[in-house]
Amino acid sequence: VSRPEASADDSYLAIRRLTKRFGTFTALDDISLTIRRGEFVCFLGPSGCGKTTLLRAIAGLEPQDEGTIVQDGRDISALPPSRRDFGIVFQSYALFPNMTVLANVGYGLAAQGKSRAFVENRARELLSLVGLADQWWKYPAQLSGGQQQRVALARALAISPGLLLLDEPLSALDALVRVHLRAEIKALQRRLGITTVMVTHDQEEALSIADRIVVMNRGRIEQVGTPDAVYRRPESLFVAGFVGRMNSLPGTVVDSSTVAIGAVRLAAEAAARFPSGAAVQVCIRPEDVQLDRPGLAGTRLAATVRGLEYLGSITRIPLEAAGLPLTAELPDTALRSLAPEPGGSLTVVLSPDRVLLFPRPGEA
Ligand code: ATP
Repeated sequence: VSRPEASADDSYLAIRRLTKRFGTFTALDDISLTIRRGEFVCFLGPSGCGKTTLLRAIAGLEPQDEGTIVQDGRDISALPPSRRDFGIVFQSYALFPNMTVLANVGYGLAAQGKSRAFVENRARELLSLVGLADQWWKYPAQLSGGQQQRVALARALAISPGLLLLDEPLSALDALVRVHLRAEIKALQRRLGITTVMVTHDQEEALSIADRIVVMNRGRIEQVGTPDAVYRRPESLFVAGFVGRMNSLPGTVVDSSTVAIGAVRLAAEAAARFPSGAAVQVCIRPEDVQLDRPGLAGTRLAATVRGLEYLGSITRIPLEAAGLPLTAELPDTALRSLAPEPGGSLTVVLSPDRVLLFPRPGEA
């Protein structure tokens, strides 16, 4: 089903020119962002970039200094958290230790004065939604970390909020549980159609779960886009380097189709966007350092294998390619016939459309 472009009434959460300062430090610097109804959005960025502050501002837990927030047509900018419409899950599970799982999940509804029977029914419904129907009688300490976080999720959803806010909900869990639970959260979000914002510093997590990713850096938005757009078409050197692995080397634009890294010349479509002589950073994804094969267009470089890092379905291979340090990531299938060894030689191909160029910092 093709989806029309976002229209005005598609907007569920509209953040306009939001600024937040802590003393003289600007944690959020003129942030504007629109989130669509039913969308799963991740705030992604390094530690201290402001993603948690932005989530807390949406919740009313961190009042902004400037700017407005409109949720579902209602200006909530000045409302306290209790009068906003969201459920929230924190990194630390934050369950009430002296209450059963059932009472934890029903807490918000009980606080709203709902009848005991209603609260219990709804809590059981939510617990089965997160796969914990048979654990209702336990106390939080009797559950694993992953189970506790599912209880926290059920608790956040029990009040049927219009917006689900997730503040690094998976980062305290071990790797396997994390990957499993994130798939569950995604499936649940789809099923409920609830507009969701999740903070994470884990780019793989953001790429796998989000409809759109908001990449943040130093209190500002660097790029907003689908996982594919952010990964394949990064709009800044920061995004290129932060999301996914990247070979990154300083170079100079030669002409509209060529960039030079030292004495090495590469065909690069992106060169057309720069004047000759421009100082650029040349970025190439490891999976775009391809093994030579007939019919593959691009710049061919003779390379020496410097090491082999076996990672299961792919192998990471640090190379010296025409004197340049380049890392390739090759799938099993590509290596079957080749079996490279440290010290061995091979030829790599860099396709002109896979060579990304950015203005070099400080020289743009
Ligand atoms: P992390 O992943 O480490 O949580 P983050 O991107 O979520 O990082 P924030 O928690 O939003 O970052 O913090 C953004 C900046 O604002 C940081 O430099 C932080 O030190 C600062 N900051 C956050 N809360 C406060 C506060 N209450 N008082 C002073 N400074 C704060």
